[in-house]
Amino acid sequence: MVNMLKIAIDGPAGSGKSTVSKIIAEKLNINYLDTGAMYRMCTLKILNKNINLDDENKITEIIDKIDIKMENNVFYLDNKDVSEQIRDEKISKNVSKVAAIKFVREKMVDIQREIASNADVIMDGRDIGTHVLKESKNKFFLNASIEVRALRRYEELINKGVNVIKEEIIKDIAKRDKLDSEREFFPLIKADDAVEIDTSGLNINEVVDLIISKIGEKND
Ligand code: C5P
Repeated sequence: MVNMLKIAIDGPAGSGKSTVSKIIAEKLNINYLDTGAMYRMCTLKILNKNINLDDENKITEIIDKIDIKMENNVFYLDNKDVSEQIRDEKISKNVSKVAAIKFVREKMVDIQREIASNADVIMDGRDIGTHVLKESKNKFFLNASIEVRALRRYEELINKGVNVIKEEIIKDIAKRDKLDSEREFFPLIKADDAVEIDTSGLNINEVVDLIISKIGEKND
């Protein structure tokens, strides 16, 4: 972490993390790592193999050998581009259960830290400020009301041509929030030294500018 910029962005689903992180990465010319996509690839692999989500032994065996790659926001599982597939509702509904498994988290965090060890990076997720990049001097926690977050997700899916019911989205996001914030290992929680930003009444550029204005020292 020596003399490198490490930016940690955490928050619940729909808080705007990935949209703003991507823009900040471009503006600052640093790497962006979407850690949620990594847990989504794990979930896709497990569902593809028809493994029961309660079978931790089998899941450990599969995830131990998982082959994932990330290049410019394109996600490869076993050398196949799965960037679209990992956004399916089926994955969104199951990912929190997979992400709660200790071995899965340890394996993904090892990869995340390896990536962060030799480059300036902005990383978004749920446990970045509290765990993955605990030493970062630039931590942000984005939040917004559940109605605003669900509406953003709803509009995103409708624009993609996916037929969804708004109330269902609210229910799914509330369930994911609960699982993510109540799990035993590295739950979704604001780091004590993170700057909290409520994005409910802000547009994307306003959030981007606010974060950039608050970015301070590199890690020494
Ligand atoms: O960010 P995204 O909504 O794609 O994340 C999908 C899921 O992956 C989250 O709901 C959470 O269960 C899990 N996740 C996590 N830790 C992270 C990033 C994501 O547990 N650092």
